Amino acid sequence: MALIDYHDVDELKNRNEEKVWMAIEFHLDKNQSLCRCRDCILDAAALALNRIPPRYHVYSFHENAPGDDDETLMKEAKKAVSEAFKQVTKRPHHI
Ligand SMILES: [Zn+2]
Repeated sequence: MALIDYHDVDELKNRNEEKVWMAIEFHLDKNQSLCRCRDCILDAAALALNRIPPRYHVYSFHENAPGDDDETLMKEAKKAVSEAFKQVTKRPHHI
């Protein structure tokens, strides 16, 4: 068995993932004309997450620990999401 099979990898969380999903909700709220299909949303999330550094932590160790500078990280996530949607809307889809 591989090492990964002995450990609970669900404990590993990328704090920026939560920020990106919040930023996507905010962005969709402000831009009502954007497509909300599964492909566009997931594509935007992937593109945005690739634009910012991951911030992994072990959930059970840091569950109640204070986060990093939330305001700066949120600003970073919003910018990444905005850029990601610019890319997504240029792609043909729903073919
Ligand atoms: Zn779409």
